[in-house]
Amino acid sequence: MIHAVLTIDDIPSKNTRDIIDYLVSKKIQVIMFAVGSWGEEFRANAVYALQQGMIVGNHSFTHPHFSELSKEECIEEIEKNEEFLDQLYKDAGVERRFRPFRFPYGDKGGENKEFLQNYLKDRKFNKVKDTDIDFPEWKEMGLDKDIDTFWTYDFREYQIRKGSGFTMDDAMTLIDTPLAPYKPLLEEDNRHHLLLLHAHDETEELVPGYYKTFIGKLLDGGVVFDRPEFFDA
Ligand SMILES: [Zn+2]
Repeated sequence: MIHAVLTIDDIPSKNTRDIIDYLVSKKIQVIMFAVGSWGEEFRANAVYALQQGMIVGNHSFTHPHFSELSKEECIEEIEKNEEFLDQLYKDAGVERRFRPFRFPYGDKGGENKEFLQNYLKDRKFNKVKDTDIDFPEWKEMGLDKDIDTFWTYDFREYQIRKGSGFTMDDAMTLIDTPLAPYKPLLEEDNRHHLLLLHAHDETEELVPGYYKTFIGKLLDGGVVFDRPEFFDA
């Protein structure tokens, strides 16, 4: 059997709400990573995510490349978004039990990487339980030690843009024949994946319901979506 935990980045957006309704209809609980400064127009959709049982994690306040920031700026990005998330959980009337973190672009901070990992640890962010992920690269890249939430597979659907030359067909083809270091989603048995998808309105405009197409293909392929679990902080 193939297992997967799904993560959805860059909420809140307009299509966040429709994505949640689809996930609820399929009984899939996900981690959604929110960017606080993008929260004004569609903030209600992030509140809705919590009320529908999704976990919302910290994806920084303005979505910068952390390797281009000073240590102080990195901390400010993390902490400002913590304030946003605390208020979000309060407004939703939901207890904040877990605090996963994901770096924008997967940029772990360059020369500040160790400092940031220690910071996330000290601030009691929760590492997503990854003991079942058995790709050798996961350990080789040190991802089994890092506190932040990385991924084993990236749908790359955010590259579908006018003039980019990358299409939904390309993204669907990659599921069976991904680029290194990503592993095929449906070919091997007894695999555990951490999947990366985005809630981008730009993608929705070009490929309506793109998330249903991806998730539907995986469900048809027998993928079991697990509830996200975390190590104690
Ligand atoms: Zn992002």
